[in-house]
Amino acid sequence: MAGPATEDLITEVTEIFRNYLKEKKHRQTPERLMVLEEIYRAGGHFDADDMYFRMKNIGYRVSRATVYNTLDLLLECGLVQRHQFGKNQSIYERAYAYRQHDHMICNKCGKVIEFCDPRLQEIKNMMEKIHGFKVDGHSLQLYGTCSNPDECEQEEETFPGKSEAAASKKE
Ligand SMILES: [Zn+2]
Ligand SMILES: [Zn+2]
Repeated sequence: MAGPATEDLITEVTEIFRNYLKEKKHRQTPERLMVLEEIYRAGGHFDADDMYFRMKNIGYRVSRATVYNTLDLLLECGLVQRHQFGKNQSIYERAYAYRQHDHMICNKCGKVIEFCDPRLQEIKNMMEKIHGFKVDGHSLQLYGTCSNPDECEQEEETFPGKSEAAASKKE
């Protein structure tokens, strides 16, 4: 899983985002830049509410709408990628300077394991040839359960602020 980004990487992605906002004539607000920074600082997978609560816990005054709208902008410019892990939940993670990978998701504890297998590229090449098709993306999720019950925690803390986010969602 992508760990916390280095300061250099944060500076780099901030520059890319600034340029993108300028080019598309979107406002360059400090809140938008803060959301980007926190995503890269935290690393890992998260949903939009996780990020909102994380930022709130740290003490940022940022609205839920800003978090959602910034995620859309970051998706557009390729700094963040979105996955659909079961249910209807959109899960995000940082995309810049991070390896291509796929995911295994535990149905019981929600743990996400990343894996990378070069054979997928071979399948892609072969299918393009056989079907006369140009592949420009793929999505692969494997679902199951952790084989070691001791490691399969019922409420795994996958992202800082997650438990509080879950608690507030129930209110
Ligand atoms: Zn991932
Ligand atoms: Zn598990």
